[in-house]
Amino acid sequence: MKSISTISVFAAASLAFMASGAVFAQDEGNVADHFRDAYAAAGTDHYNLFNMICPRIENSSAGKIATPENARSESIDRAIPMQVFDNLYYVGEYSFWESSASAWVVDTGEGLVLIDALYPDSGHLIESGLETLGLDPKDIKYIVIGHGHADHYGAARELQDKYGAEVLMAEPEWEFMSNGRGEPDTKPVKDQVIEDGQELTLGNTTFRFYITPGHTPGTVSTIFNVQGDDGEHVVAQWGGTGFGFGGAEGDEKIEWFRTYAASAERFESLVRDQGADVMIANHPGLDNTYEKHALSETISSNPWVIGVEKVANYIQTAQSCALAGVAAYK
Ligand SMILES: [Zn+2]
Repeated sequence: MKSISTISVFAAASLAFMASGAVFAQDEGNVADHFRDAYAAAGTDHYNLFNMICPRIENSSAGKIATPENARSESIDRAIPMQVFDNLYYVGEYSFWESSASAWVVDTGEGLVLIDALYPDSGHLIESGLETLGLDPKDIKYIVIGHGHADHYGAARELQDKYGAEVLMAEPEWEFMSNGRGEPDTKPVKDQVIEDGQELTLGNTTFRFYITPGHTPGTVSTIFNVQGDDGEHVVAQWGGTGFGFGGAEGDEKIEWFRTYAASAERFESLVRDQGADVMIANHPGLDNTYEKHALSETISSNPWVIGVEKVANYIQTAQSCALAGVAAYK
């Protein structure tokens, strides 16, 4: 049922996209080829990623259904904290709306590492989620922020102030965040700067951080190990997703698409080299967090283990959509 409706959304979006005028006239063939590549790579696993970014190359907010006023509280109220591996937990929002954000927690045995910190008004989900899962927010040692938009750094300042957690971001992202919207005193204080290729080992876990500009100037994508019932797995997280580019136009916009595509190409090879067989996203709609949660209650294997090829497919989908953007605007 889902795949049928997805295909029709795709078809409608593609037709609108192809027919949308001058920007596509110069290189329509290439756009269509990249669209096909993206669609093939997405398959049924990553259809949400495809639908979120490919049809919106021309306008990053096109096709978004207007969010009702209570969307944030709904996404918060319906959230379910969950354990997805022995030492990896989800304490993010419910994926009722696309803008709902994810927060991931790794229990390293020597402290907790939080990946992304939701919105300022949903930070209590992190605390209550941890408590429900038998973890203590006081044990948060590090907060890794994938990129400096408020739906990912939101509660970092609160957790920093309350628990002394150290916040990590790439240098361009500290700058991007401080120049962005939002009151300065709601933004985390600069603790640590992530360097490209940097490793952080805490307890049983080694995190490897890569600066993958595209969604924002200093987006960080992360690869780390987790323990499952059947042994160790390797998790990849693509730290940015959409093609907003802060309203860039013309050549600047093409460069953003190129940068995004190059980062994706590089991250795909890192995923393969390190054998990442689990993919987690920064919005629950993108990795089907809640569908996987439901599935985990009915099947004996862990639905989060999708294999290296499908993790690579996620990144390929993002890359092909970005290449379609290059073709569309050049
Ligand atoms: Zn963002």
